[in-house]
Amino acid sequence: MFFVLGAIVGSFLNVCILRIPRGESVATPGSHCACGRPIPLWNNIPILSWFILRGKASCCGRKFSIRYAAIEALTGLLFAAAWHYFPWQEALALMVFCAFGIVLAFIDWDTMYLPDCVNAPFVASGLALSFFLPEMHGEVPAQLQGDMLVAGLHYGLVPALIGLAVGGSLSYWMRYFASVIMRREAMGEGDVILLGGIGAFFGWKGAVFAFFASSFLGLGATLFQKIFGKEVPADLRATEASRLSLEGDEEAADMFASIGSRPFPLGPWLLLGALIYCVCGEAFYARVFPFLAK
Ligand SMILES: [Zn+2]
Repeated sequence: MFFVLGAIVGSFLNVCILRIPRGESVATPGSHCACGRPIPLWNNIPILSWFILRGKASCCGRKFSIRYAAIEALTGLLFAAAWHYFPWQEALALMVFCAFGIVLAFIDWDTMYLPDCVNAPFVASGLALSFFLPEMHGEVPAQLQGDMLVAGLHYGLVPALIGLAVGGSLSYWMRYFASVIMRREAMGEGDVILLGGIGAFFGWKGAVFAFFASSFLGLGATLFQKIFGKEVPADLRATEASRLSLEGDEEAADMFASIGSRPFPLGPWLLLGALIYCVCGEAFYARVFPFLAK
């Protein structure tokens, strides 16, 4: 049931990932093909439609990416896993986190930019959910379970605000020092808000874990690209750099001119780090920093 719900939500997330960077409304008009014609409901079934249509639009035969189906399946799997493995309060919070996370990760991947219009509600919903479902930050003492206000403030909102402050300031200062050392913008401002939001959802331990995990994941991906990626010839490098520069993306243009690839965005790795924290973060802290265990 939650897989199906996730797949339907995922189909809306696809719309967000496509339209938000272009500044279009996510509500109207309804789903339409790149040729402009509306997509009928029976051609818009999450996951299945891609396979039924074999990746070709029925109106004009345009190919559409398997990524749409993959994002729907990913959302479905994450929703089902959240419901299966976590108590309902945490599961609900995780589903909201995953929905925002998928939109942010793919927009950042596509455009190297984390829009505030997604980041801000992401942080706000982390704080609000913490208040209404304080159990997502750990046990709430039994005698407080009738007192929603005190439980929500002390056991939900307080850890969420500490997480927001730790996540936000950790990435703020890292960004500051890295930018001084590298003499260019090292992380985006969006990453600072994003890590603050991760802190609001998972507390300060989650934010710290996600931050360091993202460094390792990003480094691993860069090494993988260096070893297995194809070397880009110098003339192609220059052409791509000037194209990016024309688009106004000076940062990517510089990067392309020097190393022949686009820089990796940090957002997807931060979000993946937060997801790893959900699975094994507590066990990690218990083993490596036993004095921090609950
Ligand atoms: Zn079409």
